[in-house]
Amino acid sequence: MLREIQDLLISELVASVDAGLLFCKNDPHSTILYANDYFFTMIGYTREEVQQLFRNRFAEMVVDDVPEILEKIAVTINQGKNLDYEFRMRKKDGSIIWIHDTAAYDKKRDAFYVVLMDITEKKTIQYQMQKLLSILEYIPNKIIIADLDKKVEYINAELSKYPHMDEKEMGSKDLSEIMCQYIIGHSFNELWERVICGMIVSFETRYKNNNQIIAHDKNYLVPVMDNNSKIISVMQVSEDLMKQNDALTGLPNRGMFENYFEEQRRLTNEMFYMTLFVIDIDDFKTINDVYGHTAGDLAIQKTACHLIELIEEEDYVSRYGGDEFVLLLKTKDTSRVQYCINKLTEFTKEPIEINGESFFITYSFGVASTNGIHLEYPTLFEYADLALYEAKHNGKQGYVIYEGYMANQQLFKQQYSKQMKQYIEKIPSMIRFKKYNNLNNKNNEIMEAVYDIRGLSDNLREFLIQNEEYYDKYLNAEVFEVAFINILNKFEPIVKENPERAVCISLPAGFLLKPDSLGFLNGAIEKFAGTVYNIILKIIDPSTFFELKTVYHNFLKLRKLGYRIILGDFGREMDSFQFLLDFPTEFISVSAEFFNICKTDKKYNAVLKMILELAKLNQSKVILSGKGAMELVKEENPFDYVNESGKVIV
Ligand code: GH3
Ligand code: MG
Repeated sequence: MLREIQDLLISELVASVDAGLLFCKNDPHSTILYANDYFFTMIGYTREEVQQLFRNRFAEMVVDDVPEILEKIAVTINQGKNLDYEFRMRKKDGSIIWIHDTAAYDKKRDAFYVVLMDITEKKTIQYQMQKLLSILEYIPNKIIIADLDKKVEYINAELSKYPHMDEKEMGSKDLSEIMCQYIIGHSFNELWERVICGMIVSFETRYKNNNQIIAHDKNYLVPVMDNNSKIISVMQVSEDLMKQNDALTGLPNRGMFENYFEEQRRLTNEMFYMTLFVIDIDDFKTINDVYGHTAGDLAIQKTACHLIELIEEEDYVSRYGGDEFVLLLKTKDTSRVQYCINKLTEFTKEPIEINGESFFITYSFGVASTNGIHLEYPTLFEYADLALYEAKHNGKQGYVIYEGYMANQQLFKQQYSKQMKQYIEKIPSMIRFKKYNNLNNKNNEIMEAVYDIRGLSDNLREFLIQNEEYYDKYLNAEVFEVAFINILNKFEPIVKENPERAVCISLPAGFLLKPDSLGFLNGAIEKFAGTVYNIILKIIDPSTFFELKTVYHNFLKLRKLGYRIILGDFGREMDSFQFLLDFPTEFISVSAEFFNICKTDKKYNAVLKMILELAKLNQSKVILSGKGAMELVKEENPFDYVNESGKVIV
């Protein structure tokens, strides 16, 4: 009875287990004497097919070299051990599966008890892993993989080639320790915080030795995620920038230099401080002519070395072309700028020696700073280049600091800020714009159609005072949006007829506080028949209830989008003067009403003078607008344009 139960259990086990169970003869074909049903499921043939097609010869279904396997089997049997192999079999549908085979030899019956497991999935994963690892290993990029504690888990062969990357040391260090000393213009923590939020971040690294750039890379930190999008590690992939760098000096090229500047500008939300040097070797042609081209090359290399000596972590240097170099200092510290100026002069005292001869070189250079303003690269370069031109003009061997616009602005700030404040305190509400609702344009190139949103923006202010949580509700902003669309709709037929025409629309500065206010403006333009070219935004109501600075980035974006901007409403509050100082606009608008008062009142007149002065510094055009404007400027006209509402201004 017990025996019967045992047999039953065994036969059920054999039938239900997810493994092929065989009893095979120990002959050259491993002829099958018994196989369970699962074996046939595994290989896709029926019991009958295996008998008819293969005469039950197991070896005939195996893809790998059977004699070799049999040989190993013979050895293993002799040693009295169980068999344990992995090999491949072909299924009926032609596909190949991987089999894990364990077998025990029965000496009495000269046969094997065999267990077969399908390990194709495991093998595929293993294969993919191997493939991936060999890709990582032989890829011409440096690769480091770190866990979420920044601990290094893997480095590839390419990385260990680099002299400054000690493979042995790396195991004990975390990624931040390995990288931070080489990163240019970022902190490792800032980059790490972004990558572990799922972003791919990029940054440059540079390795200097003996005033030479030995390595210069562009690196990407990439989050590695599992199937559930959970970040499990971080991979750093580095691309060698040295290949793109100038062959003679190892310095980055001009494009890389400009990219670096723009990237830093984009990342800086607050005040933006950069100082640019444009440096040119004096009479370089003569050096080539007198001492030969090789000596010229050496002078260029020496200059590169000197400049590399000057750069710190956030600075950048490039050979701009020929004998011209650019050096960028990311610093607020004027003493560091002065230090570099002094060093550049000092370097020229060192002779350059070649073939027993020695000669000296001198530099002329121009220096310009952003002074906290988000100046774009071409503008800053233009300033430094102008200064270089002046240095050359002054007789070479020297430098000029571009003072024009920036320094005047600083001076102006110091001189007038206090004064302005006093005036403004005395005159609490200087300017009141008239309400215009004029779309009478006829011959106008640009027409002013100031929609009546005065009350609206006052309301907005009130609303802001009453609701500290003003981010949630923008009732007045909504009204502004309706007004904006309304003006565009009215203007549309005009622009269709004449695409050169522009309409001026007042934009209360407070509107830019609204999240996605730019999204609204863009959406409106997309539906509009014209382009941003046809719209001039007149910024009004710089409110005392929020700092204009908080929306500066939006002003910058407006300009990027191509809007031309008129600053209106100046002088009403201190803020609008500050705005003029920080953010040069294409136009400034002065109302006829205000100008009329200025003519007779000294205090007002002083304020007007400041506005005109600032406009000159900012290269802004000043528009006198409003009823009676033409009449007012008959004798003396300090403005660039005069526009009676509905009359020509450009
Ligand atoms: P200036 O003082 O006004 O700058 O006069 P300059 O003679 O230096 O004039 P410029 O800057 O125009 O001269 C640049 C010369 O540099 C022209 C070119 O022959 C030479 N040059 C450009 N690239 C190389 C280079 O890689 N090696 C050498 N040896 N000479 C170069
Ligand atoms: Mg030169």
